[in-house]
Amino acid sequence: MVIIMQNRDVFEKDRKYIAHTYNRFSAAIKSGYGAQAEDYEGKKYIDFGSGIGTNSLGFCNDKWVQAVVSQVKQLQHTSNLFYTLPGSLLAEFLCKITGYSKVFFGNSGAEANEGAIKIARKYGMEIKGEKCNRIITLENSFHGRTITTLSATGQDIFHQSFFPFTEGFCYVPANDSQALHNAVDDTVCAVIIELVQGESGVNVLNKKYVKDIEQLCKDKHILLIVDEVQTGVGRTGTFLCSEQYGIYPNVITLAKGLGAGLPIGAVLMDKLTENVFQAGDHGSTFGGNPVACAGAVEVLKQVANKDFLMDINFKSDYMYEKLSAMPNVTDVSGMGLMFGLSLKKYLGAGEAAKKCVKSGLLILTAKEKLRIMPPLNISKKEIDIGLNILRECLSDTLL
Ligand SMILES: *Cc1c(COP(=O)(O)O)cnc(C)c1O
Repeated sequence: MVIIMQNRDVFEKDRKYIAHTYNRFSAAIKSGYGAQAEDYEGKKYIDFGSGIGTNSLGFCNDKWVQAVVSQVKQLQHTSNLFYTLPGSLLAEFLCKITGYSKVFFGNSGAEANEGAIKIARKYGMEIKGEKCNRIITLENSFHGRTITTLSATGQDIFHQSFFPFTEGFCYVPANDSQALHNAVDDTVCAVIIELVQGESGVNVLNKKYVKDIEQLCKDKHILLIVDEVQTGVGRTGTFLCSEQYGIYPNVITLAKGLGAGLPIGAVLMDKLTENVFQAGDHGSTFGGNPVACAGAVEVLKQVANKDFLMDINFKSDYMYEKLSAMPNVTDVSGMGLMFGLSLKKYLGAGEAAKKCVKSGLLILTAKEKLRIMPPLNISKKEIDIGLNILRECLSDTLL
């Protein structure tokens, strides 16, 4: 047994044995509590990234730890060949909060979107025939890393290798109703959108456009699928971001924040789509794992609460104002606790983020922007410490 004591030991082992698909920050996080973490040398960090929006309750939230630990001691897994209580409790809770009818559980955002895409294709075939299998997505979208969800992702940069991709996707520019109208014909079974495009820069879709999409989909009997993998579970200040747009999509996918850091994804289906999947149509060995589900039930207990959501909105307004006044910040986009910061030309987001991490602030980027997604329950005091570090880093023009 090797006892690891220094960050460097972790870096070396990782670089030697883990496939180099990530350019990691130079920080090895050892432990955390709330919105604060520590590395192997005792250096402290404030968390403005929440593990890319997953640690919705921060690090090691007491009640969530309790829910997870008590489930893992009782029963960790049975496969989907048997009934277990945590999955059905979570599904019931999700349906009651959102008004949806049925849920399918997988393990990730990409897997949730794969499920939604399968529903769309089967639905299309059943109502309009085999030719009705095409799906429209938006330019600059992000829907995952599997071959099919890469196809769904409307960014050329993701379509350079790994041929052949799944056929049947086409892309239209966001916020352009005419382009969408022009793209629709009898071969289209669904439209998939993110309401706030997270990975490509925290770009918020405009409300009228989204309402237009919903109306068009209704008129043409096309499914509207909203990818809320990043925006869902309170991130934007309502439980679902769709609520703020006044829309009721046929299918919604969730993942990131739902598990508070354990892997889980969910496909929510409305009355129209709840019976599209029949026995044998879809599955996932780990999907609906009791430990992840027991933790997610605790997430819903805390997040699907009026006061908790209101607090997100207070913190959002506070942070928006402070972020807008930061040196070298030219624009702040986003909703709730999901922000994109445009920087003056000479400050690269990547370099700025490295500087932040070095200074004790865990932060994200999204294309050319800095991206901020703190745990939903971050305290005002932690916000202020984080903002001070950020201000100092952005004041330094010699990044
Ligand atoms: C992160 C993300 C995904 C992919 O989720 P994974 O869990 O990494 O598969 C899909 N859609 C959106 C909007 C995301 O932000």
